[in-house]
Amino acid sequence: MLQQTRVDQVIPYYRRFIRELPSLKRLAGAAFSRVIKLWEGLGYYHRAKHLHETAKILAKARRVDLETLRSCPGIGSYTLAAVSSIVWNEPLAVVDGNVKRVIARLFAIKDDIGRPAVQDRIREIAAQLLYRKASGNWNQAVMELGATVCVPRNPACGCCPLQSGCKAFRSGDPENYPVKSKKPPRPHREMAAAVIQNDRNEFLILRRPDRGLLPNLWEFPNFEIGGARDPAHELRRALFAQMNLRIRVGKKIAAAEHAYTHFSVTMHAFHCRSPRDELKLNHSQTYRWVKPAAFQRYPFPKVHKIIAQAV
Ligand code: SF4
Repeated sequence: MLQQTRVDQVIPYYRRFIRELPSLKRLAGAAFSRVIKLWEGLGYYHRAKHLHETAKILAKARRVDLETLRSCPGIGSYTLAAVSSIVWNEPLAVVDGNVKRVIARLFAIKDDIGRPAVQDRIREIAAQLLYRKASGNWNQAVMELGATVCVPRNPACGCCPLQSGCKAFRSGDPENYPVKSKKPPRPHREMAAAVIQNDRNEFLILRRPDRGLLPNLWEFPNFEIGGARDPAHELRRALFAQMNLRIRVGKKIAAAEHAYTHFSVTMHAFHCRSPRDELKLNHSQTYRWVKPAAFQRYPFPKVHKIIAQAV
């Protein structure tokens, strides 16, 4: 949960998750729909999928060692080092964003920290620095130092135990490290969503595919509309072209915005009416007609949750 997510944001999710699924066995035996519902709103949904798949593997394993962990989905070098050093004292150095910043400052690394060669160098330094007798404690200490003392802005060098050996501190302006080149601006997508109502006051929602962005979450049918002047018209066209649906597009009920890692989105949601009671979708996607009171049973991505609340 903590990967790329702040602790204060995670705490309520973690508590609810542990309350509902308090053991590896319970997590492994739970339906994925339940796991993803508990994760709803936390983002980076592939983590929930990997966690669930990993729990299933570990629950079946007779013995869990480094190799078992390494073979599990979602266990990359960071998680492997964190779990195995803390649990088994494996001599593996954790390298997360905080550790990278501490090392880049300690050694005043002048190259762009985003470059793979620099990342390799930092990993090598982290491995050399690792205090092997207590690698779990060491890893936690360095991560904590980066999170609480050697922070990105205004590092607290005055109380830092590494001050005497820190080249960035000696340079006079530790904030110049790590060196980062400017990222290109995040692309933006304009999209339109159809909130389609039938004669029984139910609304059409679709389940996203098992793989890719937001796996298994539910959403209202939606399409990219570019810079279209008339989003309602574009939506009508896309619904027919891509889903073979002829529907009446009514008034706009919401505009929801969200920034994902690689792009941001504005979703314009329109109330739509299905002229028939039943629509036949021309593709194999799982769908449901759902009354608004039942929306809460389905995990939605953030923008679709905003739309669901506006229905
Ligand atoms: S002395 Fe300052 S810049 Fe250097 S590691 Fe400590 S907090 Fe970071």
